[in-house]
This record gives sequence, structure tokens and C-alpha cells, in this order.
Amino acid sequence: MNVGFIGIGAMGKPMAQNLLKSAQVQLYVYDVNAAAVAELVAQGATPCQSPKELAEAAAVIIMMLPNAAIVESTLTGEQGLLAAGKAGQTIIDMSSVAATSTKKMAALAQAKGIDYIDAPVSGGVAGAAAGTLTIMVGGEDAAVQTVLPILQLLGKKIYHVGASGAGDSMKVVNNLLLGINMAAVAEALVLGTKSGLDPKVMLEIIKESSGRSYALEAKTANFILKNNFAAGFAIDLEYKDMELAMETAKSLDVPLPVGATAQQIFAMAKAKGLGREDISAVIKVWEELVGVQVRE
Ligand code: NAD
Repeated sequence: MNVGFIGIGAMGKPMAQNLLKSAQVQLYVYDVNAAAVAELVAQGATPCQSPKELAEAAAVIIMMLPNAAIVESTLTGEQGLLAAGKAGQTIIDMSSVAATSTKKMAALAQAKGIDYIDAPVSGGVAGAAAGTLTIMVGGEDAAVQTVLPILQLLGKKIYHVGASGAGDSMKVVNNLLLGINMAAVAEALVLGTKSGLDPKVMLEIIKESSGRSYALEAKTANFILKNNFAAGFAIDLEYKDMELAMETAKSLDVPLPVGATAQQIFAMAKAKGLGREDISAVIKVWEELVGVQVRE
């Protein structure tokens, strides 16, 4: 099957590489970053010069892009996917975006007979590389069933949550919690270090205690303690996801006081110029204020 992939970034690259490993997939790739495309081409993918060219070649098209504005511009316009898209194709948007944007894009695609599925993921770069992502799917059942074998090459836990946009809504809830947990881990570890505790001992004990979380386990040993904040999930992207939670909450009249505070901590990290660093770098906000470093 001809599969197109747009957005060969931190997540998209290992996901596309997993598709390349499958004998059933001919992979077509597009990204504004030529170096990212070249790397995949060296591994067997076919490059495309535009989303339109990719839509001419592929039956199933996957997007893994930073935000809704970029997804929308990838679909629309003269060089967009929909300019060449035809009935029977399926577009899967695996980016984390607002359900409202997905519903708009799904309607445009469906007007041309193209199925449109939202399928955001959780599991980070490590889960993308291992092909073990959790995938939260929204869309028509028949369309979801058609692309299930492709999704199974990327993830292990695939949940069809509901109609168009339901996968995005689920992802917003998850990432609101991720942001809150990450901000909480950062301030707690700084308090412990300032109190004279060894960060490695704290990690060991909290992992076995009631304060544990994914943010603690995935981000302390491999990122914070190793002073390695380069790859992973960017602060800018998590801030965007928390903004999606805030917008959803406002539209539904739901207060999110803990989330709002956590989002402001991400805003502080962005203001310090840490936007492209991994979310664990929020700890630097407190480290600098308090004068300690939580490292091995
Ligand atoms: P990234 O910034 O590393 O990658 C995005 C890619 O999109 C880059 O290669 C960039 O060049 C490309 N791109 C940007 N504009 C483009 C355009 N107009 N046309 C084509 N390509 C374009 O981001 P990422 O970390 O891979 O995240 C991608 C999506 O996945 C985001 O929506 C993010 O919220 C979500 N996500 C990320 C993680 C993570 O751990 N990094 C986990 C779950 C979900």
C-alpha cells in the first residue's frame, strides 16, 4: 500500500521508519525540512515536493505536524493535500490539535469523498521508536477499520474513542495531566534537593511511593539527572496542548485552576528561551530561582 507521511520530526521520523520496515508499505514523505526528508529517502522512502504531490501518490496519508494552523495549511491551498485528494483515500492526522479544527478539516475532506481520522498519540519519542504508542482515534468506524493495520505498525494500544474530534479531546485531557504532573515533579525535586536529598535516592523512593507519575519516571532519570534536555517533547508543544485544554474548558465553562497555574510555569520556561527544550526543562525555572541543580 502507498502511504504518505508529512512531518518527519521528533515523533514523525521514528514513526515513518516503522512504516518503512513493513513489507506492505511504500512510503512517500514530505517535510519543509529537507534534511529530515533526505534521511528517510536514504532509508528507502520516496520524496515529494508538496502535500499535493504526496496526495497524488498515496492511498493513506499520515500527518504528524506541530499544530492545527500547519495541519490546516497542509490540507488547503493550491499545493495542499485536498488539491489532489480523491475519493477512497484516508487522511490520518496524528498531530495534537483542537477537535474544532479537526471537525472543520474532516468536513472539507469528506466533501471530496476522503475519509478523515484524528489519531493523536501518547508515549513520546521512545514509544514512537518502539512502535508502542497509545493511539486515541476519532472518526467513522468503517474508515478506522480500514487503516487499523497501518495504525498497528505505529502503536500497541489503539482506542477508537468516538466521532471526529474525539481522539483530540482525549489527547487534550491526557496532556493537561502530563503538564500538571511535569510542573509538580519539577518543583518537588527542587525542594528535595534544596533540603539536601540525593536526587537519585528521591527518584528511587518516589517510584515506589504514592507520588509517582509518568512524568517522574520518564523524565527524571533520562533527562533531568543526565542534564539532557535536547530531544523529546518540546515545551512549546506542551504549552500549546495546555492552551487547547484552556480553550476547551472556557467553551464548556469548566474551571481548571491547577492546569492554569501549571501552564503559567510552562510560560515562564518559554520566556526563559527554553521553548524547544524537552518539557523536563521546566525544572530550570525553579533551579535558577532557588540556586540548586537536580543532577546525578
Ligand atoms: P517536531 O517539531 O519535532 O516535528 C514537527 C515536524 O513538522 C518537523 O520536522 C517540521 O519540519 C515539520 N513541519 C513543520 N511545518 C511543516 C509544514 N508546513 N509542512 C511540512 N512539514 C512541516 O514535533 P514533534 O515532537 O514530532 O511533534 C509532532 C506532533 O506530535 C505535535 O502535534 C506534538 O504535540 C505531538 N506529540 C509529540 C510528542 C513528543 O513526545 N514529541 C508526543 C505526543 C504527541
